[in-house]
Order: sequence, then C-alpha cells, then structure tokens
Amino acid sequence: MEKPRALALIAHDAKKDEMVSFVSKHREKLKDYDLYATGTTGGRILEACPELTVTRMKSGPLGGDQQIGGMIAEGKLDGLFFFVDPLSPMPHDVDVKALMRLALVYDLPMALNRSTAGIILRSSRLAGLSSTSSTPEAS
Ligand code: PGA
Repeated sequence: MEKPRALALIAHDAKKDEMVSFVSKHREKLKDYDLYATGTTGGRILEACPELTVTRMKSGPLGGDQQIGGMIAEGKLDGLFFFVDPLSPMPHDVDVKALMRLALVYDLPMALNRSTAGIILRSSRLAGLSSTSSTPEAS
C-alpha cells in the first residue's frame, strides 16, 4: 500500500481562519494525507475537522516552525502550506525565513497563500513534485 503523503500546515494568526476554511473545504481530499501542523494552527484545524489525522508540533514561536523545518531536511514532508501574514511583524521572523529557506533548498512544493495551496492540491501531484530526498539536488 502506498504511504500517505505528508503535508505541513501553518498559518499565522491573521490567516488561521483562512486556513481552517481551506482545510474544511478540502477535508475529503486531506483525509488521505498525514498532516503536520504547528500547535495553534493544528488545534484550530482539529476543532473544525476532527476526522483528519493531524500531528501537532510546538507552537510556531516556540519552535514549531523549526520542527517542521527539521522534517523537511530529513525528507519527511511532501509539501508545505504556510499561510503567511505579510502585514504584521513576527517575533519569530528568523524561524519563518529559515523554514521557507529549507523548503527552497529541498525543492519542496510550498504554498504561501490559499490560491496557490488550492492549485497544488488540485494538481494531485504533491508526492511527485517533491524530491523528498534528504540531500538537495545540485542543479
Ligand atoms: P501556531 O504557529 O500555529 O502555533 O500559531 C504558527 C506560526 O506563527 O508560525
């Protein structure tokens, strides 16, 4: 049997309602995924969609972004949906940048807003797009 695809979900505070609404809309499809989320984002998702499999990491500012980054480096994720708030300063801005940087280094499919996340999900090629290798390709 094929291993479920692993997808990380993170939303900044101003984007959490949008993430919950996105996940609710796509809940049937997301049932097939192993979902990982930062603490508060994961809690909000589980409240709305308790049937989904969501592993909650620490809250973003307390290390959750870095935990997700570690998973990327270890080749454990097939995608990252990170709904970023572009209008507020973040105390953990360095973690946010580090997480995006790792997604770029490992060529992981990454959506930073709802419309791109929808496109990636509809493409149904999340697994095929990512190298999911622990070594980035030199190209
Ligand atoms: P949170 O973390 O889901 O715990 O709020 C998200 C973040 O701000 O990185």
